[in-house]
Amino acid sequence: MARIVMKFGGTSMAGMERIRNVAARVKHVVEQGHEVAVVVSAMAGETDRLVGFCKEASPLYDPAEYDVVVASGEQVTSGLLAMTLKAMGVEARSWLGWQLPIRTEEAHAKARITDIGTLDLMAAMRSGQVAVIPGFQGVMADGRISTLGRGGSDTSAVAVAAAVKADRCDIYTDVDGVYTTDPRIVARARKLNLVTYEEMLELASVGAKVLQTRSVGLAMKEGVVVQVLSSFDDPTQDDLPGTLIVSEEELEAKLKEDQMERQLITGIAHDKNEAKIIVTRVPDKPGAVASIFSPLAEASINVDMIIQNDSKEKEETDVTFTVPRADLARSVDLLESRKDQIGFRRIITDAEVAKISVVGVGMRSHAGVAATMFKTLGDRGINIEAISTSEIKVSVLIDEDETELAVRVLHTAYGLDAPVA
Ligand code: ASP
Ligand code: MG
Repeated sequence: MARIVMKFGGTSMAGMERIRNVAARVKHVVEQGHEVAVVVSAMAGETDRLVGFCKEASPLYDPAEYDVVVASGEQVTSGLLAMTLKAMGVEARSWLGWQLPIRTEEAHAKARITDIGTLDLMAAMRSGQVAVIPGFQGVMADGRISTLGRGGSDTSAVAVAAAVKADRCDIYTDVDGVYTTDPRIVARARKLNLVTYEEMLELASVGAKVLQTRSVGLAMKEGVVVQVLSSFDDPTQDDLPGTLIVSEEELEAKLKEDQMERQLITGIAHDKNEAKIIVTRVPDKPGAVASIFSPLAEASINVDMIIQNDSKEKEETDVTFTVPRADLARSVDLLESRKDQIGFRRIITDAEVAKISVVGVGMRSHAGVAATMFKTLGDRGINIEAISTSEIKVSVLIDEDETELAVRVLHTAYGLDAPVA
C-alpha cells in the first residue's frame, strides 16, 4: 500500500466526460488499496476566461479580488470530481484551500505556500476517503484567498505530496511524459523513463513546458518523487508508464538495477522568449558593467546570457546579453535614459533569436559536450551569437529561423534519436 497524490491538469478536467475518466482512474488506484489525495486544475481555458473578466471589470483590478475570481475555476472542478467519485461508489470529499488550510505568504496572484495543515487531510485519507483539493489556491494570514501564479496547480500537488509524505506525486497532463526534445520538431524524440530534478529544472525553464518550474524546485527540496504521465492512457494500467523525476542518487540506483548506462545528454530544449541586446563601445573600466545591469535588476528584468569581450586594443568593449522578449523595449528605454552615465555608443537589438540548450547530468563527468554542439551547428552553417554554460547545461543563442534545424541535428549528434521501428 502506498500514499499517492494524483494531480490532473486542465485538459483532463475539461468537461464531465473527462472528469468521469479521471474518477475511473482514481477509483482504480483506490481499489488497489492506496491512500489517495487528488489535486485538480480548472477546466482547460477557464482560468484565461476568468482573467479576461477581471481585465474587463477594471484594467487596474484589485489583486485580492482577482484571486477571488480566478480561484473559482478549481473550486468547480474539485466539487465536480468529488461528486462523480461518490456516484461511482468511492468515498470522497473536497477540501478547499482555506479549509485544510493551505497557507501562503501575502502576495496576491503569485503567492508561495508556507505550510499545509494535514490533520484533517491525513485522517480523511487514512479512513479511505479520497481528498479532492483544488490546485492553484491558498489562504493568506488575513483570511483572504490567494493564488500561486499561472500553472500553480503543479506546485499545489507537490506541496500536498510533501506535506502528507506521499510515496509519489503523479502528475497527469496532456503529454505522456518528458521527452528528449519537442516531439513536434523531432519525430524520433524519445520519452524519458527517468530524469533528475536538476535536469527537469533546466528543461522546464528553457522551454519544455511540462511542469511549472517552481513545482520542480519544490519537489527537489522536499525529495518528492514526481511522475509525469498522460491522463489519456488506459486507466487500469498498473506499471509506471510515465517519466519519473528523481534525485541523482535515485537515478544512479535505478540505472544500476536495470543495468543501463547513463546517457551523456538527457534532452535538448529550445526557447524563443528571449531577445538580444548589444551595448556597443562601453568604457572598459571598473563599474561599467554594473552601470548597465543595476538598472535592469532594479526593474526586475531577468538578464540571462551575458558576454563581454576583453578589449585588448581599445579602452572600450561591447557587452551582449539577453532579456525576456516582453522586457526588450523597457530594457532599451532604461539604458538609453542612462546613456551618458554608462557612456556607450549605441544599442543594437535582435528579438528574432532562439536559445538552444543541451542538458544532462552526464556532462559533469565528460568533456567535449560543448565542442560537439559547436561543431554540429557549425557544420550546418548555423552561427552562434552567444554561449552560456552551467554544470549540466550548454546553451547557445542562434537565429530564430534555425531553431528546428538546430534541435534536429543536435538530437542526432548526441545519439538521442529513437531507433526506426
Ligand atoms: N488553473 C490555473 C492556470 O491555468 C492553475 C493550473 O492549472 O495549474 O494557470
Ligand atoms: Mg499546467
